[in-house]
Amino acid sequence: MYDVAIIGAGIVGTSIARELSKYDLNCVVIEKSNDIANGSTKANSGIVHAGYDAKEGTLKAKFNVLGNEMYEEICRELDVPYKKNGSLVLAFNDEEMRHIETLYERGLKNGVKELSIIDKNTVLSLEPNIQNNVIGALYAKTGGIVSPFELAIALAENANENGVEFMLSTQVINIYKDKDIFKIETNNGILDAKYLVNAAGLFSDEINNMLGGEKFNIIPRRGEYCLFDKAVGNMVTRTIFQTPSSKGKGILVSPTVHGNLFVGPNAIEMDKKDDVSTTKEGLEEVLREGAKSVKNINPRDIITSFTGVRATPSTNDFVINVPTRNAVNAAGIESPGLTASVAIAPYVVNLLENQGLKLIKKTNFIPKRKNTKLFINMSDDEKKRVLSLNSSYGRIICRCEHITEGDIINAIKRPLGARSVDGVKKRVRAGMGRCQGGFCMPRVVEILARELNIPLTEITKSDKGSYILTGETK
Ligand SMILES: Cc1cc2nc3c(=O)[nH]c(=O)nc-3n(C[C@H](O)[C@H](O)[C@H](O)COP(=O)(O)OP(=O)(O)OC[C@H]3O[C@@H](n4cnc5c(N)ncnc54)[C@H](O)[C@@H]3O)c2cc1C
Repeated sequence: MYDVAIIGAGIVGTSIARELSKYDLNCVVIEKSNDIANGSTKANSGIVHAGYDAKEGTLKAKFNVLGNEMYEEICRELDVPYKKNGSLVLAFNDEEMRHIETLYERGLKNGVKELSIIDKNTVLSLEPNIQNNVIGALYAKTGGIVSPFELAIALAENANENGVEFMLSTQVINIYKDKDIFKIETNNGILDAKYLVNAAGLFSDEINNMLGGEKFNIIPRRGEYCLFDKAVGNMVTRTIFQTPSSKGKGILVSPTVHGNLFVGPNAIEMDKKDDVSTTKEGLEEVLREGAKSVKNINPRDIITSFTGVRATPSTNDFVINVPTRNAVNAAGIESPGLTASVAIAPYVVNLLENQGLKLIKKTNFIPKRKNTKLFINMSDDEKKRVLSLNSSYGRIICRCEHITEGDIINAIKRPLGARSVDGVKKRVRAGMGRCQGGFCMPRVVEILARELNIPLTEITKSDKGSYILTGETK
């Protein structure tokens, strides 16, 4: 019997899991995919929003601003790359300038610090590659960038180290109550829990229905991206937004924490919640619109493209409520959900406590992760020391990102370690570089098979069924 079961191991579920792991509780995270962060948390802009965008008084506004303020410390504690690089919302005409003034006012009401409106010359002195027809911008110094899946994995690892169980490849099919206990029916059997949290992202409306909560719908909205080579990663240093519309924040151009550049996303409503294909028209739209903000974006520098799917709730705000006694919805968490998640977590724990969950602080909670440094980031002395203990740190596997065999073995052996090629990629970036795994994928497959002690043909690229090899040719 679990005290708390959390459905979903995206950034929301893992933030809540880590928060609950600070207390003496028996908790489980149930995730249908074979890894942490395989839903919306895998493919998004990775922006830690300042908080001027969401309407004042909404949950989005409240948790955005709170979350932004919590990021620096959480990322430091968990050793996750994060950068407060600041952001600009550009105006190209008087109407957009008026909208920027509205955003400025809204930001002040939401409690955003270090917000200012700057003129054309200041914009161009900060970011010389912005198009010359810009007339001004909203400058938010607290805007930041993060690697979203690395943070979710770090939160999950840390929660796991502090005692939270993770059941991967386990899909919740139905939920019912037997007296006061939740019976959670999954493809791996029935689990019992006293309290339940719905953090199922795109599918959180379906879980809410199982719990008998007030109805809402999740509308899936595609967002396509082009990712550029590190060679052009310094075209802009801040995150460059366009003036937002009713469809969202528009196409942005931003550096990533690892020094790449990306352009995107568009916003297209879809029928299917799990369609992550990219389209020719979508990518053309992204590049066309991105070029309105930043000069000289060259499609030849694109190294890959991808799609993320937003879980847009019909309520126009996050759905954080109590659908039935002893349960909490953390549902419909669309943008700025990555930013907000770290602040949503303590709020959800508080909602559980209000319903009777006993919270007794652990005395042995471990806030930090251990042994996370990549070989490339080690000092000379650290390199010498790990090499003397383990020579596999001396073999480079991913030439683009300089990732060694030792780093990959560590990614597999860590708590909730990698089980697929994408699992390795998300943890240590092998295959994330210019060649996109062209050189290192076969070696990563071999290392996974050897370390997990399974046949090569069992290794998948990402989730179940995505096998890479079918058998021997000779
Ligand atoms: C294109 C795009 C751009 C974005 N940009 C930003 C940004 O720059 N900044 C920002 O702050 N936010 C951004 N967001 C929003 C952010 O990505 C989301 O708010 C956040 O990832 C939501 O996390 P989640 O944990 O709720 O959902 P998810 O990451 O989708 O996790 C939900 C999990 O639940 C699992 N699940 C679902 N159903 C079941 C079931 N029945 N049984 C078991 N498991 C189940 C899924 O497999 C999934 O892993 C963006 C989103 C998108 C799509």
